[in-house]
Amino acid sequence: MTSPRRRRPGFFIILFGSRNIISGDNTPAVETTCPRCQQPSQIFGRSYRTWFTLFFLPIFPLSGSKRFSECSVCHAQFPVPVEEIRRGLAANEQQQNQQAITLYNSLRASPANSITLNQLMLMYAGMSEFSQAISAANDFPEALSASEQCMSTLGRVHLAAENRAEAIRWFDAALARNSALGEAHYYKAVAHLTNQPPDYAAAVAAARQARNAGFANADALLREAESKARGE
Ligand SMILES: [Zn+2]
Repeated sequence: MTSPRRRRPGFFIILFGSRNIISGDNTPAVETTCPRCQQPSQIFGRSYRTWFTLFFLPIFPLSGSKRFSECSVCHAQFPVPVEEIRRGLAANEQQQNQQAITLYNSLRASPANSITLNQLMLMYAGMSEFSQAISAANDFPEALSASEQCMSTLGRVHLAAENRAEAIRWFDAALARNSALGEAHYYKAVAHLTNQPPDYAAAVAAARQARNAGFANADALLREAESKARGE
């Protein structure tokens, strides 16, 4: 008599699936402001492929390589190859340069046009071309001296270029023409807060004026200036 063989139930699972495998890409990174985190960052080219996996091991690719870009600061991913971002930025810059030339020519024809000067300074500031914005203001003193808005914009340009004393001088010039210009009070407060050394009392006074003028976010700036003035 043979003893019955004990049969073990067969039991095995094949785990298969798919997985995206990311790799770097040899194109140089683009230096720009990230549209997601708004920080100056490098946008890197990356690519990925979907692989068939067996027990989590990639066996063969299911898709061709797909390219995307990634921000070095916040790691946001954008579904376009990095060259496309580079081309877009270059085209945009060229277009802005063209617009700046048009505005400049229009100012030459009517040098007292404050609205055009203000637009031109804002455009240069948007391209971080602060010295160009400042020289435009120098080239058209008639337009500048007729407009508190131009003076305030010039102050903001100096603030962005970290010439804080000069910025404060232009905010004061703007406020001498129109003491209710909230923007000039607001950025004057920012200049005092970030100055070396900072002047917290002056920042509080300017932020309070900005709030009284109803300027957006002046309340938060005032609270910050007050807490710094208390030494917090
Ligand atoms: Zn980012």
